[in-house]
Amino acid sequence: MSEHEVLGTETIEDKILWEQNIMTKINEIGFGNYVEAIPNLPDAFDQEKQKFFNWLCCVDGRTPCGKHLPGSGVSKNIEDMVNLIKENGIKNITWHKECGAAGIEAKNNTGKEELSEEEINNFAQQSAERIAEKAGITCSEMKIEGEHNERVCYLDKTNKFDHSLVKDLPNGFTVSELKGINKGEILDSIKLCISIAFGKHSFGDDFFSKENPFIVVVVANTNGEIEESKRELDELVKTFNGKVVIDGFVKPFEKIDS
Ligand SMILES: [Zn+2]
Repeated sequence: MSEHEVLGTETIEDKILWEQNIMTKINEIGFGNYVEAIPNLPDAFDQEKQKFFNWLCCVDGRTPCGKHLPGSGVSKNIEDMVNLIKENGIKNITWHKECGAAGIEAKNNTGKEELSEEEINNFAQQSAERIAEKAGITCSEMKIEGEHNERVCYLDKTNKFDHSLVKDLPNGFTVSELKGINKGEILDSIKLCISIAFGKHSFGDDFFSKENPFIVVVVANTNGEIEESKRELDELVKTFNGKVVIDGFVKPFEKIDS
């Protein structure tokens, strides 16, 4: 983290401290109990407030709107992406600078161990543009601000969730459970998010502990889905010796239009 980077009127340090207070509370009472006390929680699921709800974005916490795949699907086969875009009603695909997923894929693709930031950005842009052209949708850059500071990874089973619309929700990665994405891919996406949080571009391994863990938050339609995800992610979580835990909450009832 760079020091004293300004985010509006508050510094990054203020934001991290404020979020630490939230995380302490969540660790004390659990995510489900924590969100019960947030009156505007339904806003996070309100598609009228989400002008980009049918956009495909990265899982990066700095691109919180829309639906999410690592690097907007940069590592996936293009034919699969075209089908996925149709099946999930995606109208626009985005790319962003400093994309970790695009960086990994660019290195695999070129066989080079080191690539410049510009080369990775170009790779991310070209991948998104190629998919957009083939799928007949538009493509745009999602501008990012600041550095990684995700405390959680939301596994969004509702495909309607945008944490940035509710101030009291911690910043996090979002992995969407889209149609056409299998359980193995979901697991790989969550692993990628944890590796970023535990890596040199974010808080890092030493920051997280049993008392202050990274949380995979299942954003579920039912309590059964939370239990199912806990079973499915158990093996992965165990490898972090308590530094990663799984929690979750059920989305509030939707407004019924009269
Ligand atoms: Zn990214």
